[in-house]
Amino acid sequence: MEALDVTQGTACYVHIPFCKAKCPYCDFYSLRLCKDAIMRDYIKACCDALSRQTFWWKTLYIGGGTPSALPPALLGQLLRTAVPRCVPGAEVTMECNPGSVTKALCETLAAGGVNRVSLGVQSVVPRERRALGRTGDPNGIVQSLKWLDEAGIKNVSLDVMLGVPWQTQKSLAETLAFCARHAVHVSAYLLKIEAGTRFAAHPPEGLPDEDALADLYLFCCEWLEAHGFAQYEVSNFAKPGAMSQHNLHYWRCGAYFAVGPAAHGFTQGRRWHYARDLDAFLRGEPPIDDGPGGDFDERAMLALRLREGIWAPSAEMLTRAKQLPGLVVADEKGLRLTREGFLLSNSVIGKLLYG
Ligand code: SF4
Repeated sequence: MEALDVTQGTACYVHIPFCKAKCPYCDFYSLRLCKDAIMRDYIKACCDALSRQTFWWKTLYIGGGTPSALPPALLGQLLRTAVPRCVPGAEVTMECNPGSVTKALCETLAAGGVNRVSLGVQSVVPRERRALGRTGDPNGIVQSLKWLDEAGIKNVSLDVMLGVPWQTQKSLAETLAFCARHAVHVSAYLLKIEAGTRFAAHPPEGLPDEDALADLYLFCCEWLEAHGFAQYEVSNFAKPGAMSQHNLHYWRCGAYFAVGPAAHGFTQGRRWHYARDLDAFLRGEPPIDDGPGGDFDERAMLALRLREGIWAPSAEMLTRAKQLPGLVVADEKGLRLTREGFLLSNSVIGKLLYG
């Protein structure tokens, strides 16, 4: 490995494609937890790929799937390989499912160098949790948070879902108040019915219509801002100093390495991804090249997801922005979307870039 040069810091994503059960709305690449031998082979394959890297990482993100469902010994092995490749002070995040968090797991994470945890709460309202197929109650989530805190992991982000069956602004406020008590960062995603999921085959009752969904999003943004969480991206909110450095690196079009089936990377100006196929990964099949990345359009598309927007828009974008009143702001600081623009971000960004 080359000498440590923090100016070359890039990011690294490790995908853990195992979950205890498949949630009815999820289209991420994840398989049911399988035999220990397969998970052992998987972690060994990840460690081999990570060991061949010559970059230093300023952020490391272990996501899934459910990384916290891995046996602690395998998690320890992964952390012992990956964390030493991070620069000092790097942000090391792991996604956890409250149902699989134990005191021993929290101690393994802290000892292994994890300093940030993203916990998939989605909702603390029992009826909503049942509709999402989520087991466990809010007391169990509080216990998970207590173990993380005792292990010294204070940088905690909670995932919240908007547009859950039967959700109202009142019930959403209950979930957000829970987040405000326990976390420094919140990611709030709109529930989308994705093809191939159980929700697509059997749509649940109680889904909000488009107007109610928009109101829930705007309510969420205002509620969190009123409680000290600044919105810095379409779906992300942070207390001062708690923005996700890893995700900021993506949105600022930084280079990143990735490992695991369905994981995407961006290195040396090219984008690539691994097939959604655990066996292919275990056979050592290389990632698939997606072509060059990082041109102006791609950088703008990513940056416009951020509250800061872009500071040097093209003349065409400024002209198109005038056709999008209330959705886009253009001033001496550059071009950025308003909250209403965030709500329609894909179509607004498309119109700004391509008319
Ligand atoms: S735990 Fe997360 S990754 Fe796994 S099935 Fe549920 S939503 Fe998908």
